[in-house]
Amino acid sequence: MGAGADGGPHTGQTATNLVKVALIVLPGFLVLVFLGSYWIVKRSFRPLDSISDTASAINEAKDLSRRIGLPPGKDEFSRLADTFDQLFERLERSFETEKQFISDASHELRTPVSVIKGACEYAEQYDETPEERQETISMIHRQAEQMSGLITQLLNLTRLEQGTEQVRLLSLNLGEMVRDWGEEQGDRQGRLILELQEGVTVQGDSGLLLRLLNNLVENGFKYGRPDGHVWVTVSRSGEEALLQVRDDGIGIPTEQQEKVWERFYQVDPARSRGKGSGLGLAMVQQIAALHGGRMTLESVPSLGSAFTLHLFLNQPSEKI
Ligand code: ADP
Repeated sequence: MGAGADGGPHTGQTATNLVKVALIVLPGFLVLVFLGSYWIVKRSFRPLDSISDTASAINEAKDLSRRIGLPPGKDEFSRLADTFDQLFERLERSFETEKQFISDASHELRTPVSVIKGACEYAEQYDETPEERQETISMIHRQAEQMSGLITQLLNLTRLEQGTEQVRLLSLNLGEMVRDWGEEQGDRQGRLILELQEGVTVQGDSGLLLRLLNNLVENGFKYGRPDGHVWVTVSRSGEEALLQVRDDGIGIPTEQQEKVWERFYQVDPARSRGKGSGLGLAMVQQIAALHGGRMTLESVPSLGSAFTLHLFLNQPSEKI
């Protein structure tokens, strides 16, 4: 009998060969698949290593200038890395601002302390006449007042920025608030002019808005002409409620107008020496932001300045 029609021996042989080939090829194939997958996974997770390395480098070296810097792409890792880089950027800026703030605050406090120290040392060393002694005491008093004002402003600003000061937004009639405030302004009357539109109501914290108003009005007088005026206006414009403080004083040069909102910035420190710290407008802007509003400034040197708070008007049903 030849090779059977059923192909018995041949088929058996082929099957054996196939098994042999499979036994050799399959493990190799599996190893290749494993290595390939490992390489693909490792490669696709490489950006994650980069993110993690940068984060640890920032943490260990306290170096906020580091960035992940993945090439731009549309995949999730590129987007994640980009978001992290933006976060690092914001953190770096805010740390720099804090550092600057602390250094400015220390500098501002050091000046009056040095003056007081010098005055005390002089008084201890030399016999002062009663008049001179009185003068020294007055000077120490003035410096201490200045420091106390600065510390209060620093605390107020920090509390607002850290959100530790409670903000209670209630329906508030701006015109009424300013009218009541104006009645307490005593001898300023005559130089302080109120122009108040009726029924302008907002969601506001009257304590904070009065602090904002006081700061702006103080500045209006401080940087005004001796016989000048300060106007406080409450009005409505479209969807907005406006509270404006305008003066006919020295004005602010155009190139400095953006900077006056920065903490400790003073256009002319000699002009406000002993009377200011450069923190007032930073606080004004902070209060506006806490109300969801914004501040604008228009000013012309030698003609005067107008600082305007823009808030959302209450809807008619919310009016009081
Ligand atoms: P300061 O305590 O120095 O008044 P502010 O933050 O209130 O600080 O103001 C910052 C700077 O902006 C002031 O030093 C002053 O140069 C300028 N400025 C503020 N208000 C006025 C104004 N009404 N007219 C002119 N300059 C002003």
